[in-house]
Amino acid sequence: MTEPLRPGATIGILGGGQLGRMLSVAASRLGFQCHIYEPGAAPPAGHVAAQVTTAPYEDLAALRAFAQSVDVITYEFENVPTASLDALEALRPIRPNRRALAVSQERVAEKDFLTGLGLQTAPYARVTDLAALEQALERIGTPAILKTTRLGYDGKGQARIMTSEDAPAAWEAMAGAEAVLEGFIDFSHEVSVIAARGLDGSVACYDPGENVHRAGILHTTTLPARLSPGQRTDAVLIAARILNALDYVGVMGVELFVTPQGLIVNEIAPRVHNSGHWTQAGCAVDQFEQHIRAIAGWPLGDGSRYADVVMENLIGSDVDRVPGLSRERNCQIHLYGKSEVKQGRKMGHVNRVIRGLT
Ligand code: AMP
Repeated sequence: MTEPLRPGATIGILGGGQLGRMLSVAASRLGFQCHIYEPGAAPPAGHVAAQVTTAPYEDLAALRAFAQSVDVITYEFENVPTASLDALEALRPIRPNRRALAVSQERVAEKDFLTGLGLQTAPYARVTDLAALEQALERIGTPAILKTTRLGYDGKGQARIMTSEDAPAAWEAMAGAEAVLEGFIDFSHEVSVIAARGLDGSVACYDPGENVHRAGILHTTTLPARLSPGQRTDAVLIAARILNALDYVGVMGVELFVTPQGLIVNEIAPRVHNSGHWTQAGCAVDQFEQHIRAIAGWPLGDGSRYADVVMENLIGSDVDRVPGLSRERNCQIHLYGKSEVKQGRKMGHVNRVIRGLT
């Protein structure tokens, strides 16, 4: 498919969480239908999509039927097994492409790719057993962080190592999974760039946002981020470099540590990103519409920011604050339709619009 997708066409989305839900809303505003593929029952995206397939990611027959019912496939979940992607790709284009998925599914591959582009990352080493960890610690030093190479998110699958005595417990915490040791970056703050690349290779980056985490989970994203004009340019150049190198189509989140030695790439996410939710209130075209435009082969929208915005995640029982939040006149509320409140579960977010640009 190289022609722009016409309204009325169907977009397949792997994953039915809040990102799939907000992508479906954006797609439907552009006249598309969405078909969600999700193993879990009653996915949040199911409330707003035309069709839902409930089946595991290993069910090749269900995946093929899903692919045949859509015009293009995208995802909000990047850990889909390789064999499943093969089955899908044989039938319909997957955007962003397989390389973007492969690079971001595995932390060592990701860091090899980033350093190969000449970008800065934390010093790192692959760790497959305790002896390798001890060796890596000698090279990288402490403090350091041990992370599983796959399937980590929101700070899960991570162990801090303050002294070499912490090594055995940290290795235990990986529960036998392959890991990467990362040197601890002494950053002043964390920012992220949400960037998009179209089918024609054009790139549009949103202004970097400043992220604050609580207990490993994103708490707020604030625009504008504290960055000098030079750092702002660097952030955008880093993101564009990554997108071009991957021949990427769609929206990507690039997380960066701000240090006196420059911007260090923490990780990339080949999809719309929680730290890009502010664009719903700050830009004419938000990250969800931008992603749909890109994968549909449409021209990218304007990524300019028109307001200062603070995005706050509503985690677990934070959702009980909604009645009070609803009385704040400049507070845009997004709830994900999740029936069960759990500790650490993202239930929604709010975007507070602060009038005027600074
Ligand atoms: P991650 O899952 O890799 O994004 O890590 C979650 C959070 O842990 C990051 O947002 C940082 O706050 C912190 N973190 C991760 N890696 C490092 C590192 N190498 N040095 C310092 N802090 C880190």
